[in-house]
Amino acid sequence: MPGVLCGVDIGGTKCSIALIDEDGKILDKIYTCAHVEEEEEDGMVNMVAGHVKELLQRNQVKESDLPALGVGCAGHIRFRDGVIITTSNLEGFDNYPLRDKLQAHFEIPVILDNDANAQAVGEHKFGAGKGYEDMIFVTISTGIGAGLIINGKPYRGMTGTAGEFGHSIVEPNSELVCACGNRGCLMACACGQALPHLFEKKLKEGMETKIKMPPNFNVSKINGQTLKKGLDMDDPLSKAVITDSAYYVGIGLYNLFQILNPPLIVLGGGLTNWGEFYLDKIKETFYELAGNMIHDPIEITLSEIIGDAGVIGAAALSLE
Ligand SMILES: [Zn+2]
Repeated sequence: MPGVLCGVDIGGTKCSIALIDEDGKILDKIYTCAHVEEEEEDGMVNMVAGHVKELLQRNQVKESDLPALGVGCAGHIRFRDGVIITTSNLEGFDNYPLRDKLQAHFEIPVILDNDANAQAVGEHKFGAGKGYEDMIFVTISTGIGAGLIINGKPYRGMTGTAGEFGHSIVEPNSELVCACGNRGCLMACACGQALPHLFEKKLKEGMETKIKMPPNFNVSKINGQTLKKGLDMDDPLSKAVITDSAYYVGIGLYNLFQILNPPLIVLGGGLTNWGEFYLDKIKETFYELAGNMIHDPIEITLSEIIGDAGVIGAAALSLE
């Protein structure tokens, strides 16, 4: 069955493996809780390889029908030799030669890249970025990352860690310390990790919320979904927190705009479920900062990938 692509998305708690068609639609998918169940790194690789083969077999796809196997993984990936340099998601996988370990199971090439780069490629091939030579994809969820497409290709930098946009600093004197140790990284200020802090701050300032909080409620449980519910019920506190997050993302996008002058920035990831309200607030900050420095229109839009963007991006890598 030619025209089929296969991708593997290795996340912090689960791994998904899918076959997609040439329009980026998922044909069949296997979910697995990879790492928690496997004691050793090699065990995880064997399991993933086994599931890929199972998926191919049950769809009557031959390995030789695929151009390659695309693999997206969170963390710092050294692209040239397919080594995971560091990853905060997968314990024991630092300096792990994931690509070569997987390659030992397959005849076709295995292409391993960072998950944000993979999603950028997916968005470029199948989503809002179709037809653009240059674009930036930004994912906003538990963390924040970006993938840069320049001259139709992913730009990975010297090591492969280009686009670590979440560690760009937007508030140097911030009380929020990032996992990297710096103060005021974009991801520390704006993404999932920041939400309980932002929420608590507003409560202390005396803002009221329509979100029901039982007596033993722990603010650390506040996440994107809680705030989505708040947004849907027009809760002023939820909207204020979302606006704060948007403010920092807007600053980040403005910086990207000044460096790369892209025609398109696509936003994906869990927090973009906040939808148009979030997008509008991000644009507000962006356009306020950019002022009259925009000479050609720039489009800032939400991802058009429907379904599991991580695994669709991973599959798209196989076209690289
Ligand atoms: Zn950081």
